[in-house]
Amino acid sequence: SVSSSTSYSFSSSAPSVDGDDERVINLDHGDPTMYERFWQEMGDEATIIIPGWQSMSYFSDITNPCWFLEPEFAKQIVRLHKIVGNAVTENRQIVVGTGSTQLFQAVLYALAPQDAEQPISVVSAAPFYSSYPAITDCLKSGLYRWEGDATHFRKEGPYIELVTSPNNPDGFVRRSVLNRTEGILVHDLAYYWPQYTPISSPADHEIMLFTVSKTTGHAGMRIGWALVKNKEVAKRMVKYIELNSIGVSKDSQLRASKILDVVSDNCESSANNKSLFEFAYHVMAERWQLLRAAVKVSGLFSLPEFSPGFCSFRGRFFESQPAFAWLKCEEPIEDCESFLRFNKILTRSGKYFGVGVQYVRISLLDRDDNILLFINRLSNITIDDVYQH
Ligand code: PMP
Repeated sequence: SVSSSTSYSFSSSAPSVDGDDERVINLDHGDPTMYERFWQEMGDEATIIIPGWQSMSYFSDITNPCWFLEPEFAKQIVRLHKIVGNAVTENRQIVVGTGSTQLFQAVLYALAPQDAEQPISVVSAAPFYSSYPAITDCLKSGLYRWEGDATHFRKEGPYIELVTSPNNPDGFVRRSVLNRTEGILVHDLAYYWPQYTPISSPADHEIMLFTVSKTTGHAGMRIGWALVKNKEVAKRMVKYIELNSIGVSKDSQLRASKILDVVSDNCESSANNKSLFEFAYHVMAERWQLLRAAVKVSGLFSLPEFSPGFCSFRGRFFESQPAFAWLKCEEPIEDCESFLRFNKILTRSGKYFGVGVQYVRISLLDRDDNILLFINRLSNITIDDVYQH
């Protein structure tokens, strides 16, 4: 989720010459560098070697409607969903994309009626993922148009509703808010994994989007996948990717296959200490615990509360521990993003998510040192800082 509400800098976790008090902490992007530590500990287990002559052709499997999908990657996607139990893969087409970002665009293209006089409306309940409006409208397409908050959508006719569950930015589990027959639902399940939220049952929707970015932390691989029930819709998505990039990097798909293979192998083995989901679950649990304690101490902020749910994968109850903290600044703070920036913490304002400036989204997927420094700094902010600001 790269966007531009603040200056573009990934240097915040480099050793600081000015000391920790001066260091700017950038938690604007959802860059999942938290996972580096896990993969470092895996050593060479997930290493692949690609000889110069390999994966040269544009094509992967011409018998598949998604002809650029590597069969081994498809196999590993099905296997992982089976193990985790978070999505039904039977009777579905798999479409691979350059991140789920490309798949989102492919979905819009595939669902928009080609001969309509008006662009189809695209909506999502606020607060919604800040990239949806930006991506939907960037080319001012005649096929589709962003219409904002689904909760206030009143227009007649067909529309596309994006359901992000758990939601970016606030982490709540969601269902569609509009239940009209002319609506088409797209489920963005980027965070429906057991380190973030209890897996209640295998998701079984028409169109579901996933990404390795938030599953294993490999955002730089730029690989996502869609599970699509309707074959014609899948074919139109494939057509879009054909026009947009003539397929998806095979090197990345091969690497993604290996990564998912290792994740699944380690889930199936009894050695719990090598499970990616256990690792990430415990990191997230600790971060949320520390963050909630810091917020309590300061008295200036509040966080969403989640009720426990049963997770079929972990076999126990727990509360959601989202990838982002959706922080609300209480009075007398007015603009939460600018207040935190004054304290050298870079976040993304609620205004990019269709709500007010009293909210910010803060990534909790950064490296340990950055997150700990952030939580520490947050707990030291006092009411005096508000008046200085
Ligand atoms: N959907 C949601 C809800 C996200 O948060 C993100 C990443 N920030 C994406 C999609 C895009 O992921 P990718 O890296 O696969 O393009």
